[in-house]
Amino acid sequence: MLRKVLIANRGEIALRVVRACREMGIASVAVYSDADAAAPHVREADEAVHIGPAPSSESYLKGDNIIAVAKRVGADAIHPGYGFLSEREWFARAVRDAGLIWIGPPAEAIGATGSKTAARQLAMAHDVPIVPGTTEPLRDAAEAVATAAKFGYPVLLKAAAGGGGKGMRVVRSADEIAGALDSAKREALNAFGDDAVYVEKYIEGPRHVEIQVLADAHGTVISLGERECSVQRRHQKMIEEAPSVAVSPELRKRMGDAAVRFAKAAGYVNAGTCEFLLDAHGEFYFLEMNTRIQVEHPVTELVTGIDLVQWQLRIAAGEAITFDAPTAPRGWAIECRITAEDPSNGFFPSTGRIRYLHVPSGPGVRWDSGVETGSDVGLTYDPMLAKLIVWGEDRAHAVARMHRALEELVVDGVESSREFHLRVMEDDEFRRGDIEIQWLERRLPSIVGAQASPEQVRTAAIAAALLADQERRARAGGSLAGAPGAAVTPAPAASAPVSAWAERARREGLRR
Ligand code: ADP
Repeated sequence: MLRKVLIANRGEIALRVVRACREMGIASVAVYSDADAAAPHVREADEAVHIGPAPSSESYLKGDNIIAVAKRVGADAIHPGYGFLSEREWFARAVRDAGLIWIGPPAEAIGATGSKTAARQLAMAHDVPIVPGTTEPLRDAAEAVATAAKFGYPVLLKAAAGGGGKGMRVVRSADEIAGALDSAKREALNAFGDDAVYVEKYIEGPRHVEIQVLADAHGTVISLGERECSVQRRHQKMIEEAPSVAVSPELRKRMGDAAVRFAKAAGYVNAGTCEFLLDAHGEFYFLEMNTRIQVEHPVTELVTGIDLVQWQLRIAAGEAITFDAPTAPRGWAIECRITAEDPSNGFFPSTGRIRYLHVPSGPGVRWDSGVETGSDVGLTYDPMLAKLIVWGEDRAHAVARMHRALEELVVDGVESSREFHLRVMEDDEFRRGDIEIQWLERRLPSIVGAQASPEQVRTAAIAAALLADQERRARAGGSLAGAPGAAVTPAPAASAPVSAWAERARREGLRR
């Protein structure tokens, strides 16, 4: 068993790992930059070590320093979370070479899956279907044109070293290829230091469905079923759910088997995710394997009852998986990523101090967050404030519950995506599960533009007036919430009707 784990990350995922450690009686060590000195993950961990200035290149990405800190505090393992160093092959290797346990897959498995072209070759060799296209980088535009002609337009040019949607170009005709190839190569070189680009058939309107796998060091690999992550904006997931309306038990078994085959072929150990596109005809195509815990892992936890982070720790410590793969998901789970962005203004990032945060609770609600009332939100790190996750008996129940939980949520001080998520939960197409990866971009104008009913506006105006009154009285009492240097006190008293609409009305300046 592990004794002490250093968490090479921040925010909600660092706190998630602290919680897993605490339940298992393992000591946790947080690391933090200047910007995070007062962050909840720092306070909640058993120990915390300052590792440098705010920019991640000088703190959370300084792997050698983080390893030195781990040695100094006597940690026996490092958990990388997601992002930052989590999928850096060199870091996984350096951790191991330093005599520490890496809570993730072997460096070799990260290497085998890190390049998209290498992963496609591996998939093909093990009967895992891939999107039609090449498995070798393109030599030049002429080869791209010839390949595209073979597979038919539209095609997608993709950086072999890609990630986060970078170095990707949709091409709809031969005369666009040369230009698109140039810009994809340039972007790939800038982002990844590698300009290898290959071609895939562009699949129109697929769903993004991924399979969670868990693999131990003794050869057992199991599938924990699918997550549907089709609600995306600019290739960024915004809402995830488990299971998927598009996946039958039979398809779940076939996709799960394919993911397990791929993980075995890659020599995979620990928690990992195989991402697939699922087309309208029920055909699925392997995209890539994510060799870390995913942001959206909680939805799988809620429908399987399996604590994925604790299993990451157990597997890293050499434990064998002692249970069978669940045959079917139990109920339905949905996750909304609550970000500090303003949906009504093109998702423009919002910064400032969170003056007041009211966190939803009640049956079936989980809140994974790295912020609290008084936290400062800057531009240095990811804009995600928290993940709101709900469980319901079926999808309709989960949607209703998410809507209720979002109504309870109040984020005051910065703009958030809360309102956007509420509108999605009310959207007919979303409620039918009628979604695919281009759905949100198409639907966004009507979602963001959704108007409140006259009744809602009236309620909001009244609530806003009451709230303003409360604040005036609070100020008269001498405490000005959120003022620099002042203790941060929750602005509204418990009796104030701080409804979702009150907050909205206040933001929009609706006053009686
Ligand atoms: P990255 O590693 O850069 O995130 P992915 O291969 O995971 O790249 O692709 C990112 C997103 O782009 C996918 O989630 C999907 O929405 C879309 N996408 C990728 N490949 C295709 C394809 N062949 N056809 C249509 N959409 C695709």
